[in-house]
Amino acid sequence: MEASLADASELASRLRFSFDSGHIWLGETRMILLHGAAVIALRKELIDSLGTDRARGVLTRIGYASGVSDAAWARKLYPDASGTELLVMGPQLHKLEGMVCTRNGRLNIDVAKGIFYGEFIWESSFEADAHTELYGVSSEPACWMQLGYASGYVSTLMGKFILFNETECSAAGAHQCRIVGRPPVEWHDAEASLKYFQPDSVADHIIALQTQVQNLRYSIDEDLHTDDLVGASPSFRQASSLLKKAAASQVTVLLLGETGVGKERFARALHNASNRADRPFVAVNCAALPEQLIESELFGVEKGAFTGAQQSRPGRFERAHGGTLFLDEAGELSASAQAKLLRVLQEGELERIGDSHTRKVDVRVVAATNVNLSEAVQEGRFRKDLYYRLNIYPVTIPPLRERKDDIALLVQRFLDKYCVRHSKQVIGVTDQVMHAFKQYSWPGNIRELENVIERGIILAQEGGRIDLADIFPAIMDDAGKPRLSGLSKDGSVLKQDEGTVEAFLDYVQKNKVSLDEVESVLLKAAMARADGNLSSAARALGMTRPQLAYRLKKSS
Ligand SMILES: [Zn+2]
Repeated sequence: MEASLADASELASRLRFSFDSGHIWLGETRMILLHGAAVIALRKELIDSLGTDRARGVLTRIGYASGVSDAAWARKLYPDASGTELLVMGPQLHKLEGMVCTRNGRLNIDVAKGIFYGEFIWESSFEADAHTELYGVSSEPACWMQLGYASGYVSTLMGKFILFNETECSAAGAHQCRIVGRPPVEWHDAEASLKYFQPDSVADHIIALQTQVQNLRYSIDEDLHTDDLVGASPSFRQASSLLKKAAASQVTVLLLGETGVGKERFARALHNASNRADRPFVAVNCAALPEQLIESELFGVEKGAFTGAQQSRPGRFERAHGGTLFLDEAGELSASAQAKLLRVLQEGELERIGDSHTRKVDVRVVAATNVNLSEAVQEGRFRKDLYYRLNIYPVTIPPLRERKDDIALLVQRFLDKYCVRHSKQVIGVTDQVMHAFKQYSWPGNIRELENVIERGIILAQEGGRIDLADIFPAIMDDAGKPRLSGLSKDGSVLKQDEGTVEAFLDYVQKNKVSLDEVESVLLKAAMARADGNLSSAARALGMTRPQLAYRLKKSS
């Protein structure tokens, strides 16, 4: 059949220029404008330093990766397009990106049956011109990166590998380039070309093994060590270096920081780095236990101490004997629990509730709080002597918004962890999502990021990247508001529009949200932001309190 290749203007209209931040977006992929001459110089350097064969491999794989990325994007953009329609979009994108102009070809395709035969003419090939400029007329075809692109694009849409070769090339003196693509088994000399698609460096193998080891380690949180605390920003490194120094001693450590910054991970890492590592690590969240229960939980109870105490049982302190007890939200302890805790810290002994027998315990305490303890002392809610006892070695863990340079590392760590947990392959987040992550203030800190990534992995396409629609309702409220400019179909710059609207539309389209549901999403988001305060949510939405109450009732 004759394939008609429509012009690239519709795709050009998807390009967005953010003049404020210096981004160019094609969908959610960050694009860059490079000087052709710079790429030609790079090609020469590759060939001169690696030799023709290796350089060809590197360029083929770069092209292949671009093709894969574009195909995934095209499929997402036009979910209802047929395989053929998506296939002809590849040459349009290739043209838009300034590589080559593809002319009328022959195409025989049946995605379901895995049939593919494609034959196209290439004109104005960037690579052929580049190669000729560098080396004169060549004895072999030279459009390696472009062939890689064609293979990557078509293979992604076909769901099987399709090998493209050049049967003529203008770099080798032909009038134009001619490319043919078909499954490798249908080429009699496929081996010779296939090797260029295989990464050949030893470094790749080492990196793959390292990644595997790390995945295994991350999947077992219990093995967390101080070296595994993820972060390279100065404030974070200062905190983890303080922690490492404390590990060797028996000092009581007080972990300070907002909720969600990872205090329990720090405590666990401290334990694992200490000489108590082979003894128990016991964690207690004081805020999660009712006041009546907290003492019996911590210090144990003797049979008959109170109604319901039918059996004697040890508390968490006794269970942590020889090891570490992590007391989260220690500021929530009752006055009497504070007194008992002070005694354990000072004397190393406790009595179970309803018991007169004194027991010795050897426990290292790591306490944590997100309230200001010295204020609590002034207000009489927290014992001064206990505060001084806990505050010997404070370590402040910075909030995520103060260590945005660590976001990429953390994202990778959570991808490793949750891809394993959900048995799903997700290769990363789109450039635009990473950009949004860096704009966002992360009130819930690392825990919030972790939740967003887990949710994103569940929603993302297998083998794809987490995109804006996958994270949209969670974090976009104050993040994705870049001022973007697009290109009209004739290539002129359009007036600026709001990236949020684009993202919201993507979300609506992807999740098949009806207009009524859109209203409901907005109402709920406004209520959540106003902490459930009806009047301020109504103000945010520009309506009166009774109007909002009525709509909420209607939409629930
Ligand atoms: Zn060529």
